[in-house]
Amino acid sequence: MARERGGGYERRYPRELILTAAIGKSCGACTMCCSALEIDSLQKPAGPSCRHCVGAGCGIYAKRPQVCRDFECEWLTSRTLPQNFRPDRIGAILMEDAEVDEYRAVCAPARPLAWRHPRVFAHLVAVAKTGRTVVAKAGLQAWRIFPSGEWGPTV
Ligand code: SF4
Ligand code: SF4
Repeated sequence: MARERGGGYERRYPRELILTAAIGKSCGACTMCCSALEIDSLQKPAGPSCRHCVGAGCGIYAKRPQVCRDFECEWLTSRTLPQNFRPDRIGAILMEDAEVDEYRAVCAPARPLAWRHPRVFAHLVAVAKTGRTVVAKAGLQAWRIFPSGEWGPTV
C-alpha cells in the first residue's frame, strides 16, 4: 500500500513492491488503497485519505501498519489486467481477501457503483466463472457477482 516518498523509481518504491509489481506497472498518481479501504488500526473509515498520505506516498512508510504492508493490489501485480484497470481509473481496487477466499472489487465510496462499469463487470463475471466467490464492496454495502452475470446484495 502506497509508496515511499522520493524521486525516481528505485527510491520511490520499496524493494518488496519492486519484486511484486508486474512489468510496466506502477502506482503513478493512484493512491486509492490509502483512501478507499477501511483501516481499523488507524481508525480510518473507507473514503477519506489516510492522514499519513502525503502526495503520492506514505509519510510513515517505515512505520506503516502491518495491514498496509500486507496489502496486495491485484492490478499492480497482475500481468494481464490492462493499464486502464488502474484503481483510480476504474474507481475500484481489485484484490484478494485471503481470509474469506473472496475476489473483491472495493469501490471508492464516492463511486459506489464503479463495479457496474461494463468493462469492470465483465472482468468480475469472468473471475466468477473460474469458480471464485466475487464480491463488490462500497462502504458498508456489498454485492455478490455470479458466473451467470446475475448479481445481488449480500446478506
Ligand atoms: S491501489 Fe494499487 S495502484 Fe493504487 S496506489 Fe494502491 S497499490 Fe498502487
Ligand atoms: S499508513 Fe496510511 S498512507 Fe501509509 S500506507 Fe497505510 S494507508 Fe497509506
